[in-house]
Amino acid sequence: ATPTALMVGTGRSARMGILIKNGEVLEAVNDVKTVIFDKTGTITVGKPQVTDVIGDTSTVLKIAASLEASSEHPLAAAIMKKAKDDDLKFTKATNFKAIQGKGVEATVAGKHAFVGNEKLLADVAIQAEIRSKMTTLQKEAKTVVFVGQENQVIGLIAIQDAPKKTSKAAIHALKSRGLKTVMLTGDNEAVARAVADQVGIDQVVADVLPSDKADQVRSFQTTGRVAFVGDGINDAPALSTADVGIAMGSGTDIAIESGGIVLVKNDLRDVDRALELSRKTFNRIK
Ligand code: ADP
Ligand code: MG
Repeated sequence: ATPTALMVGTGRSARMGILIKNGEVLEAVNDVKTVIFDKTGTITVGKPQVTDVIGDTSTVLKIAASLEASSEHPLAAAIMKKAKDDDLKFTKATNFKAIQGKGVEATVAGKHAFVGNEKLLADVAIQAEIRSKMTTLQKEAKTVVFVGQENQVIGLIAIQDAPKKTSKAAIHALKSRGLKTVMLTGDNEAVARAVADQVGIDQVVADVLPSDKADQVRSFQTTGRVAFVGDGINDAPALSTADVGIAMGSGTDIAIESGGIVLVKNDLRDVDRALELSRKTFNRIK
């Protein structure tokens, strides 16, 4: 590849809202065999909404909001919005602690309280009725968090984040090229599977702790070059480990810095457009 051809390739892509850091990145895209996607904010819009509350609604929401007021997680934003919309009064919890990939815990009204997934509930029993409600909600592609006090679950909050309108077409285009598509997420298997089915993704790797995302990318690299597409702080190591890191323009600064390609329009169809551009650039000059 001549430097001029590369500049033509990256200049044209920039006008389309696809920022490619350099010619090596543009060339590497051409050889990608697997495209791995983060879920929240990448495949989905990233603006989760509370859809269901199981248990005494206002008590469950008040306790959850007391804790989530100190969290920066997208799920926390959904819960805070619901508490605000319902005009609930609550006080901010003390001794707040965020546990990556699991949830949050703190003290509310002198009692230990928590909001999070099953991994957070090491020695808390889940009532059969609660568990069956959880399963139903998860099959509807909703992320379910437990809200509890001391050693008891007092309710559930279901939160839904819809896929972006263009995600399905984007996945279809990549599969038509013979590429393998994978979703990598910290969310639960049932939810991940439901979202993957909505957009047509082949394979799901769920319940992945943020610290394990890069290792997951490495394991796919044994069968060829991997592109990883993500937006979060959590995704930065995976973005730098992949042969091609593709960050959403709406993503956190650290994700954008770690990516070799930035999708300014946050449209996953631009992954396929970058591939097409690479193919044209490198086939023309060989
Ligand atoms: P993702 O890969 O989808 O961005 P994360 O690693 O950020 O996922 O979170 C994984 C899971 O951890 C969430 O689906 C949720 O169950 C739990 N979790 C993390 N942070 C919070 C929080 N602030 N409140 C409730 N649950 C949380
Ligand atoms: Mg994300």
